[in-house]
Amino acid sequence: MRLNEIPVEGIPYDQLKIEKIPCAPAYAERAPELVSAGSRTVVVNPNRTCMPLGAMWAVLGVHGAIPFVQGAQGCATYVRYTFCRVFKEPATIATASFHEDAAVFGGRRNLVEGLRNLVVRYHPEVIGVVTTCSSEIIGDDMVSFIKLARAQLRQEIGPEQADRIEIVLVNTPSFAGSHLEGYDRASRAFVENMATVRDKPNGKVNIIPGLLYPGDIREIKHLLRHMGVEGIVLFDISDPLDAPLRPPQKFPYEPPGGTPAEQIRDMANSLATFALLPHAGQAGARYLERKYGVRAVVGPPPVGVQGTDQFLRTLSAVTGQPVPESLLDERGRLIDSLADTFHHTMMKKVAVMGDPDVVLGVTRFALEMGLEPVALAGGTASKTFTRDMSVILKEAGFTGDPLLLNGGDLFEFEEYLKKLPRLDLIIGNSKAVDIAKELQVPLVRTGFPVYDRFGYQKRAVVGYRGGEILLTEIVNSILGYQYPDDRTHQL
Ligand code: SF4
Repeated sequence: MRLNEIPVEGIPYDQLKIEKIPCAPAYAERAPELVSAGSRTVVVNPNRTCMPLGAMWAVLGVHGAIPFVQGAQGCATYVRYTFCRVFKEPATIATASFHEDAAVFGGRRNLVEGLRNLVVRYHPEVIGVVTTCSSEIIGDDMVSFIKLARAQLRQEIGPEQADRIEIVLVNTPSFAGSHLEGYDRASRAFVENMATVRDKPNGKVNIIPGLLYPGDIREIKHLLRHMGVEGIVLFDISDPLDAPLRPPQKFPYEPPGGTPAEQIRDMANSLATFALLPHAGQAGARYLERKYGVRAVVGPPPVGVQGTDQFLRTLSAVTGQPVPESLLDERGRLIDSLADTFHHTMMKKVAVMGDPDVVLGVTRFALEMGLEPVALAGGTASKTFTRDMSVILKEAGFTGDPLLLNGGDLFEFEEYLKKLPRLDLIIGNSKAVDIAKELQVPLVRTGFPVYDRFGYQKRAVVGYRGGEILLTEIVNSILGYQYPDDRTHQL
């Protein structure tokens, strides 16, 4: 039955559904052995991206820092293109520009000359050297190459100036992990290289946000401000990747903001490190705990009521600061929105895809709304995803049996969704656009990457206020899709 043929009167809300599993007329059910990613030798529509991307994201969040990609131009260009699409900002990323000779003889000359050119032309305070598949496969001895490059820089620009430049190596063989691991490795590399002294407690907390957008980081800072807590946000991309356009611009372009190097050096003196998205940032937090006894608080993502409650409760316990009335009001507003919209969201079938932490955080919030998860796809395989998701489903008293994909691809996700008797909504990133179109269900965009819409990088989904934004979009997507227009006048 088509939407405009549904008689309006006498239909209960849960029957107000349009016929929506048409697929393409040519669709034929696939052989089961082709559907599971585990039984195929090819990946179709990966739900993840390349490891160096995560490391470059991290480096761009440090003040005055430039990533230097030890690999071919494509490994840098692809990431710059992705950042431009998602953030609508330029991203300065240097590359060693590997060609055939580097693949045969190694990338030493490329690194030494490349770092020299980068320093002379762009004057970075920090350089994050990010390796790639090719440099890892040919076995570049990066530590000795960087020593050689520094020795040559000392000769050319003088030891004082050369030694002021921090050069941090992040090994990111992309065949061994995804963008999340790239960010995770960067978190460890930066604190290991720069936070080397614990001498004077600073009373602050470290925040490693993971691959959260500028709007999310601003929301975390808002929570800290209201708690009266000083924080060091490692890899603070909120300004570099959402910079105000304020002429005159200087050349070379240096984006504002980013975590200052001296703050990273001070991280060993903090009370605790919060890794908000465990798969991207816990390596740095755990390193500081092991080496300097700085408590590591790993997850859960501060999404929705319980996720944000848990973040603030732990922040309060660590710092001794009570949660203020202003934040309790924000919490109350989110609860009020949940209560106001429960009848629209209750029992709606939802599929969630994206990075595992995003899927975990969003699913927990979806359950708070009364949505019923039918398929949950974390794009990067994780040791903890299935266990953590089972705990979330159990704690919510959810008795359904959703498909859990731990690192599978989107082909598998799509094939499963096509066979479901009912699906109301997909929550995920832009890679799910074609699936949502094929199934004729709305897609609520969240997570990385969102490149087919504007402004998603500027808004928050974390915290109570971010929860209201996400809830609003979910509810409006359901209303726009499930209700005939004349019916929405009476809502
Ligand atoms: S997957 Fe490897 S070769 Fe491809 S862009 Fe990433 S680092 Fe470069």
